[in-house]
Amino acid sequence: MKRDFAALHHQPFDLLVCGGGIYGAWTAYDAALRGLKVAFIEQNDWASATSSASSKLIHGGLRYLETYDFKLVGKSLKERTLLLHNAPHRIWPLRFGVPVYAQQRLNRLQLKLGLTLYDFLAHDPEPRMQHRYFNPEQFTAHFPALTEVALKGGFTYADAQTDDARLVLELTAGALAAGAHCVNYCQLVRLLETDGKADGAIIRDQLTQTEHAICAKQIVFTTGQWLATESPSRDWCRLAKGVHLLMPAVLNDEALLLTAQSDGRVFFMIPWYGLTLLGTTDTDFKGNVDQVNADDSDIDYLLAAANGYLKTPWTKADIVGRFAGVRVFKQPVKTTSASSPSAVSRDWELKTAANGVHYAIGGKITSSRQDAACIVDTVCAQLGIKQPCATQSKRFPWAPQDTFPAWFAAMQDHAAQLGIDAESAKWLLRRHGTQADGIFRRIETDPDLAQRIVPALPFIVADLMHCATNEMIAHLDDLLRRRLPLLILTQLTQDQLQRIALRVAAPLQWTDTRLHQEIERCAPWIAH
Ligand SMILES: Cc1cc2nc3c(=O)[nH]c(=O)nc-3n(C[C@H](O)[C@H](O)[C@H](O)COP(=O)(O)OP(=O)(O)OC[C@H]3O[C@@H](n4cnc5c(N)ncnc54)[C@H](O)[C@@H]3O)c2cc1C
Repeated sequence: MKRDFAALHHQPFDLLVCGGGIYGAWTAYDAALRGLKVAFIEQNDWASATSSASSKLIHGGLRYLETYDFKLVGKSLKERTLLLHNAPHRIWPLRFGVPVYAQQRLNRLQLKLGLTLYDFLAHDPEPRMQHRYFNPEQFTAHFPALTEVALKGGFTYADAQTDDARLVLELTAGALAAGAHCVNYCQLVRLLETDGKADGAIIRDQLTQTEHAICAKQIVFTTGQWLATESPSRDWCRLAKGVHLLMPAVLNDEALLLTAQSDGRVFFMIPWYGLTLLGTTDTDFKGNVDQVNADDSDIDYLLAAANGYLKTPWTKADIVGRFAGVRVFKQPVKTTSASSPSAVSRDWELKTAANGVHYAIGGKITSSRQDAACIVDTVCAQLGIKQPCATQSKRFPWAPQDTFPAWFAAMQDHAAQLGIDAESAKWLLRRHGTQADGIFRRIETDPDLAQRIVPALPFIVADLMHCATNEMIAHLDDLLRRRLPLLILTQLTQDQLQRIALRVAAPLQWTDTRLHQEIERCAPWIAH
């Protein structure tokens, strides 16, 4: 994946997609597959905002059944099934436990009804995707970290999980391969209009601060929380912040859906790269969209919620990492801003302004493919192009063409022969799909690259070098926060960070001065 800012201003485009999160990535990929000439720009790194700060679930959203949002749940579950099929390396099933305690808000019968409806809406006949009930002993065997006091049993049900930042990256790579011009660190500064209709924009290269004009017949803003900073889109959205903490491993391969005792809200404990992802909060956000952080109150809320269920409570000293993201909700016609963010629908809408610019408002990672197909349908209608959407049935760019379990087993054997430990191999294949072949070739020429970068985490040095060389890295934190989420899964020491930076300095052609600047950029994440 090569970055080429100059290529953007030498030619007219059919479509300019502004905003490199999941909505932009699906839109650019879909449009490029339909033969449109596409420019896809992101002001920072790919997925640097909400699309790397989610709960990483591809899910229907069991809790939305409580608000009778059956349409949204059904749509998301349909997408879940489709994505599990089209991207088995990128999106994998994850079972969730739901304990039943005496005197909890929802009793066993209510949960049984909800889970039966959830399975029905999913229309997925596979036994691995159906819910099950366990008695207290069996449930505790699945989740030994949970308190057994007043435990009456529990259910498990199926959803799916991904690495959100890499999902965006793979789709961006797919868009590039299909002919789109995809440039990160490229900001849309202002729109250009002729006779009241937008037909281009001034864009800025954030790495050199140069500005150029770009021409595009159609323009789509998939700018997430930045929609709230400009007219007309600020009137169409409402923002809410969600925080996650990375905590020590207390789960096996199954997640938990729990209810916070303080306010009855649902939260998750999810296994992720060997640790536990705890989240999320959901509070109205009216601050600076460029600075979204986890506050003490968010941390206290999440720890208290988890400690209501854990045999051995967590303290702040157990926190390994944290991140915060902002959800965009479409603003209801009759403003009900008094209702809590958790009660607002996650549904999505496309709005078109008087100057012809389209704005994607709200949504979920899970349903973003289908929503992006609607965006591209609208764009094609404006351009007079009749070309159907191809993403529904197309395998992901890095998905193996063979049967997935056979491919996975053969690749794991190959990894073992190369000296890669089994856990690292599993994550490597999920992270890179068929691109793993190139990583294996690196190890064949230098067997030391099969070693882990840091002993506690399942990422190997060959993976780091592959990402540094091939995945459009501009800054060290692109590499260590999103391509491999090292900076949030552990607190690297200054020494570890320096050694990693030195390794990648050569492929990234960094001078000593640049190397020093890049290490400085990562200072907020390292151990002091
Ligand atoms: C805490 C939390 C948990 C969530 N969990 C889940 C989940 O488990 N499953 C799920 O399906 N959904 C989940 N969601 C929802 C999901 O994450 C979002 O719907 C999705 O990531 C939004 O993607 P987006 O592309 O619209 O926005 P973003 O990912 O925010 O991307 C917008 C991009 O636009 C760029 N941009 C802005 N202005 C400009 C400009 N002028 N020029 C160039 N670029 C610009 C930004 O830099 C940014 O990268 C969660 C959301 C939150 C907050």
